Amino acid sequence: MTVVKCDVAIIGAGIAGLTCASQLAQAGIHVEVFEKSRGTGGRMATKRSEEASFDYGAQYFTVRHPTFAKQVAQWELGGHCAAWGGSVVDLHHGRRQLASKQLRFVGQPGMNAMCRSLAEGMSVNFRARLLSLERADQRWWLTFEDHTQLMANMVILALPAPQALKLVAKFPSVAAPISSVRMAPCWAVLLAPTRTLSLEFDGAHVHNLPLSWIGRNNSKPGRLPAETWTLHATQDWSQRHVHDNEEDVINQMVVAFEEAIGHSLPHMPGKAHYWRYAQTLSPLGQDFLFDPALQLGICGDWCRGKRVEDAFLSGRALARAILER
Ligand SMILES: Cc1cc2nc3c(=O)[nH]c(=O)nc-3n(C[C@H](O)[C@H](O)[C@H](O)COP(=O)(O)OP(=O)(O)OC[C@H]3O[C@@H](n4cnc5c(N)ncnc54)[C@H](O)[C@@H]3O)c2cc1C
Repeated sequence: MTVVKCDVAIIGAGIAGLTCASQLAQAGIHVEVFEKSRGTGGRMATKRSEEASFDYGAQYFTVRHPTFAKQVAQWELGGHCAAWGGSVVDLHHGRRQLASKQLRFVGQPGMNAMCRSLAEGMSVNFRARLLSLERADQRWWLTFEDHTQLMANMVILALPAPQALKLVAKFPSVAAPISSVRMAPCWAVLLAPTRTLSLEFDGAHVHNLPLSWIGRNNSKPGRLPAETWTLHATQDWSQRHVHDNEEDVINQMVVAFEEAIGHSLPHMPGKAHYWRYAQTLSPLGQDFLFDPALQLGICGDWCRGKRVEDAFLSGRALARAILER
């Protein structure tokens, strides 16, 4: 990492951080984004092999707020997202019912496509995990995992609440409100059957089982053609099975998949991923946090709720509040 100072350092290249960053950059502010992983998107995540795509974080997103609707329309025009017309059902102990009718969108070719579009032309530093934040002489001093140090006038954290809290624990104006937020984990299992499963749905919200979601990735626009399935476990089950190994999780979730559809399945190679902070249980109840004396801002889905739309609106609202000052 070669950056040594900037106006605004934004930590986290998920949709909240990148929305905030792009709004500030458009207003001429020197923004640097720092992301611990190798790519943009955070929990909007798609893995790709040569033939197959797997969405293993957010499965789709919905649109309620007019500001988000306007942005989604632009992304749609640019080909970064598209409506998913898959057949989505509710499964109650093997009984199937069509789920509520609503317009569902997905990023294309993968869930992080909108984040990639937001990041275009911006300076995003990957493999840059922030370890600590110090305040001295009216400036922020940031230390990253590779021991690099950075000086910034303002810092914005766009991370899941518990990860943000760790970094700002000694700043009570923001730490106190964040500590009321609760987030839950989620085990995700990715399956690649060698022959088609011939199920009569593309997505299912599962009730009364360890599973909460079953989704056929290749039914979504822009995905590679090979049939692949994503399973999500419920929050409770994920919490109770945090220490299970990958193989046990895959086996138990495939059994739950069979129970949900009412018949057995062929052996399928699979992988599992544990999301420690997947979804908000109790949100902050305001769009963002900003302490003007500290020049410290915090945004993310958990400020408003638990969805992609909440993350976008939180990042945007924080940027606008900063620009209006
Ligand atoms: C399993 C699962 C299913 C979901 N299903 C849906 C759904 O169907 N519909 C829906 O609307 N939403 C869904 N969501 C929620 C949705 O994904 C989130 O609301 C949204 O992606 C949050 O965006 P964000 O920018 O706030 O945070 P994130 O996407 O979490 O971005 C935070 C970023 O910060 C980075 N980071 C963390 N710590 C550091 C550090 N110390 N230094 C540098 N970088 C760091 C992370 O790597 C990450 O890229 C789901 C999420 C999961 C996990």
